[in-house]
Amino acid sequence: MTAEREVEVAASLAIVRQRIARAASAAGRDTDEITLVVVTKYFPASDVRLLAALGVTDVAENRHQEAVEKSEACADLDLRWHFVGGLQSNKATAVTRYADVVQSVDRLKLVAPLARGAQERGRALDVALQVSLDPPDRDHRAGVRPEELSDLAAAVASVDGLRLRGLMAVAPLDERPADAFDRLAGVREGFLAEHPDARWLSAGMSADLEDAITRGATHVRIGSAVLGSRPGLQ
Ligand SMILES: *Cc1c(COP(=O)(O)O)cnc(C)c1O
Repeated sequence: MTAEREVEVAASLAIVRQRIARAASAAGRDTDEITLVVVTKYFPASDVRLLAALGVTDVAENRHQEAVEKSEACADLDLRWHFVGGLQSNKATAVTRYADVVQSVDRLKLVAPLARGAQERGRALDVALQVSLDPPDRDHRAGVRPEELSDLAAAVASVDGLRLRGLMAVAPLDERPADAFDRLAGVREGFLAEHPDARWLSAGMSADLEDAITRGATHVRIGSAVLGSRPGLQ
């Protein structure tokens, strides 16, 4: 870890924190309601260590193997690990060994393996359901369709070991994020009527965190604005 990297990350982090505070204040919300989750995918464990030293409490990964290695290298740090990537059902139990939160639960098939993992480790797992904001005619990307959300939520809420916390979404690439998050806020209203305690809303990334905070985000997932552009894809 070089001193130069430390200065760079500290400066970017300060800017992101300021953006969050401004957006919260503009929306008449308390900054404390919003958790900054730094997405550390593709960046080394040394960066995670740096973030922890700078007061970051929550980090996220989107690939299982990378997350295993990094969380092991950082096991001495007091961090909450979020999993935000596409999840295969045969990996779901293993993810619970390091993840405190899984934000990308989008189908019924994941419920049993996640619950089994939570039971094996003897600690409840926080779960957010990933909602698809794509138009209905789009080839299915990640996320449960809004009309299937109620059944999935009921399944998660009914098993031991999983704590249903709320919703997660990614704005589609070809739409204004504000419009997508408006739709998300509508979906969330219906969801909260059935699960009033599941108030997390994980939405907003580097480019659109203000739009998400305006529309009620409680968690923003920020990668490049804190750590710089990622090498290679994604
Ligand atoms: C990579 C990633 C992010 C962070 O994206 P940035 O644009 O770099 O802030 C957020 N959410 C998910 C699910 C991601 O995979």
